[in-house]
Amino acid sequence: MMIKNMSKGFHSITGTFLLQPHGKAIARAADIIRRGGLVAFPTETVYGLGAAATDAAAVRRIFQVKGRPADNPLIVHVSAKEQLYVVAASLPEGAAELVDRFWPGPLSLVLPRSSAIPDEVSAGLPTVAVRMPSHPVALRLIARAGVPIAAPSANRSGRPSPTMASHVLADLAGRIDAVIDGGPCPVGVESTVLDLTGAVPLILRPGAITAEAIAKCLGRAVEIAGKYSGKPPSPGMKYRHYSPRAPLLLITGPPARREKLIAALKRHYQRRNLKVGLLMPDQSVDPAVAARRLYRALRAFDQQGADLILAQEIPAVGLGAAVMNRLAKAATRIIKA
Ligand code: AMP
Ligand code: MG
Repeated sequence: MMIKNMSKGFHSITGTFLLQPHGKAIARAADIIRRGGLVAFPTETVYGLGAAATDAAAVRRIFQVKGRPADNPLIVHVSAKEQLYVVAASLPEGAAELVDRFWPGPLSLVLPRSSAIPDEVSAGLPTVAVRMPSHPVALRLIARAGVPIAAPSANRSGRPSPTMASHVLADLAGRIDAVIDGGPCPVGVESTVLDLTGAVPLILRPGAITAEAIAKCLGRAVEIAGKYSGKPPSPGMKYRHYSPRAPLLLITGPPARREKLIAALKRHYQRRNLKVGLLMPDQSVDPAVAARRLYRALRAFDQQGADLILAQEIPAVGLGAAVMNRLAKAATRIIKA
């Protein structure tokens, strides 16, 4: 990989600028967005790959460089609560309360889509997902660009989401215009996605804002999309996701039996000279810490050349629910001990 020094301290890595999270560089990144380019940027959840949400051609390039199926809609990011009215055609019951309570933060709301947002963003759906991130670099970039930014996670489709600028470069160097390096993402897993366009508020993807917190704010029950049959409730949910290169076996069941099975599997594969990676063997770890480390750990196994990854269930409380959701999607097989 060639790294060359550019004027004004900008660095280009095979055509992708690595920008520092300061005024001048953010202004330059905003300029790239305004002109229809693609910039990866840090948010509190994971790194996003941003394009002007009102620019259909730029949004199509996001799908191209990620290799993302065209029927998997993007989340639009805003820098102020008022900007919601550019993106959404109307606010269903409860939307205003949730925005007041949880924005800026890791909660994406699925709402009726405004005509300012092209079909490409929402994969043709009449709805749009929108959120206001809390990361200061993301907020400055969106505000400076002066336009809402459509941004999926900044990884090649199917790979673990990036939580560091180096992850973005590993997947997308040379394919995007720039990445702003804001250091590691504090939450580490993607936002909660909540659909407010149906009869009942429906969590399409668990994240840091929990079902309990949402129900409390709304004063009513919310449903969680999970074990569905037939048509997936959210288009992106049918694809395998977040996957390292090595096969991942997710072991669930009672703790003692899990531990025993993992030890047996580890011995079995090591005897066959396979390099076995163990994910999160420590059950006492805070689920927020597990979330923060999850994608970095999956990518590290790739780098270490693991042949097989054994992952263990953690309690689905707080961010543990989001971690288990991502692990289940990353898993080649789920085995009940
Ligand atoms: P990503 O940006 O990679 O985290 O993926 C965004 C996810 O948000 C998609 O995979 C969908 O599951 C969900 N999403 C985005 N827009 C919509 C929408 N209009 N309706 C339902 N789900 C959506
Ligand atoms: Mg993604």
